[in-house]
Amino acid sequence: MADQANPFESLQAQIDVAAEHVDVRPDILQRLKHPERVLETTLSVELDDGSIELFQAFRSQFNGDRGPYKGGIRYHPGVTRDEVKALSGWMAYKCAIVDIPYGGGKGGIVVDPKQYSESELERLTRSFAAELRPLIGEDRDIPAPDVNTGQREMNWIKDTYETLEGTTAPGVITGKALDSGGSEGRVEATGRSTMLTAREAFEWLGRDIADATVAVQGYGNAGSIAARLIDELGADIVAVSDSSGGIYDPEGLDAAAVAETKQETGSVVEHSAAERLSNDELLTLDVDLLIPAALENAIDKSLAEDVRADVIAEAANGPLTPGADRVLAETDTYVIPDILANAGGVTVSYFEWVQNRQRFSWTETRVNEELERVIVEAFDGLVEAYEQNDLQTLRTAAYVVAIERVVDAYMQGGNWP
Ligand code: NAD
Repeated sequence: MADQANPFESLQAQIDVAAEHVDVRPDILQRLKHPERVLETTLSVELDDGSIELFQAFRSQFNGDRGPYKGGIRYHPGVTRDEVKALSGWMAYKCAIVDIPYGGGKGGIVVDPKQYSESELERLTRSFAAELRPLIGEDRDIPAPDVNTGQREMNWIKDTYETLEGTTAPGVITGKALDSGGSEGRVEATGRSTMLTAREAFEWLGRDIADATVAVQGYGNAGSIAARLIDELGADIVAVSDSSGGIYDPEGLDAAAVAETKQETGSVVEHSAAERLSNDELLTLDVDLLIPAALENAIDKSLAEDVRADVIAEAANGPLTPGADRVLAETDTYVIPDILANAGGVTVSYFEWVQNRQRFSWTETRVNEELERVIVEAFDGLVEAYEQNDLQTLRTAAYVVAIERVVDAYMQGGNWP
């Protein structure tokens, strides 16, 4: 079982490592390690039986130097203030590496949504949206989905905001359903960027992803779609898992069929014709490509010593602890960092926002082509920074590129007393 590294400390450690390779003043560096503001609020929500329950909720606005704060809202019992702060920082650097005009933000509610009815979740979401109203807006802070939230919650937040503001503002939130101003391609975008970065990494290493064996931890939005798209490239998805456990088939699973099983039964473990395996067994399988697509801290230092994959594509945010990172750097395991491997979600969120502002819709083909261009360009820039600076990891290269962009924007804006 992985240790519980504090994700905010992990973020700060990642920035410190990269800062050694960037010409940045120490006082400016401090700014890059702390959020600008964090809202902490207690939501009082009426349950179906008429009783009131309190829920703790957060929104962290990490850095707005490059544009409005941007980032998802997570519903999970493990949400903490430090987790939300870390996730907001990763968003700031993610937006910088793909060079879209946003800063970083993130929100979360401490809740296990499986324990509540749809009407309770709607009241909870609308209550949070009302608390967020002074902070968010099409040009201020633009939330999106994250773990355990999706189109339904985004539509509720948009409706609450628009009702309270007395206006229409579809660009206040992204990840909406198509009829509520969503974008073609948004649901698939995170997994698509994981597929694109893995494909590019294999090509860079002189290998063909079609020959790869792949294990995927977490089979939700990010993991199941990355698995399906990589399956479509010809690779063998040999193992997948979710919070109920994992399944393994050395001949290769049909990723789309496993997703259907999960949709119908609630878990991948119900998929027939496959052996069961634990999450730790999955993470240490002898595969070419490993995709952690669940939560933070999936792989710690001691588990990293047993990891046998050649390439890891971080679909999840923060799945490796800093200790795991150091071990994997020494064993020459290539880690495609989260801030690029899952950046497709925020990139297509940006396309959704652009379409909302223009009141004009793009085709799915256009969305996917623009996404591919952005991700491949960002991957090439990262490899260039890695090779030119002779860096130890692709993660450090990603932070070097991202930090330079955030610092440039800040310095060009000048200081405000
Ligand atoms: P999701 O809720 O759709 O899926 C999460 C999956 O992880 C589920 O299948 C769940 O069963 C599984 N899981 C949870 N704990 C697990 C464990 N201990 N072992 C194995 N599986 C476990 O969430 P998602 O949107 O796919 O997000 C997953 C990760 O991707 C998160 O780190 C999130 O921040 C990141 N991410 C998501 C998006 C997006 O657009 N959805 C964008 C960028 C990053």
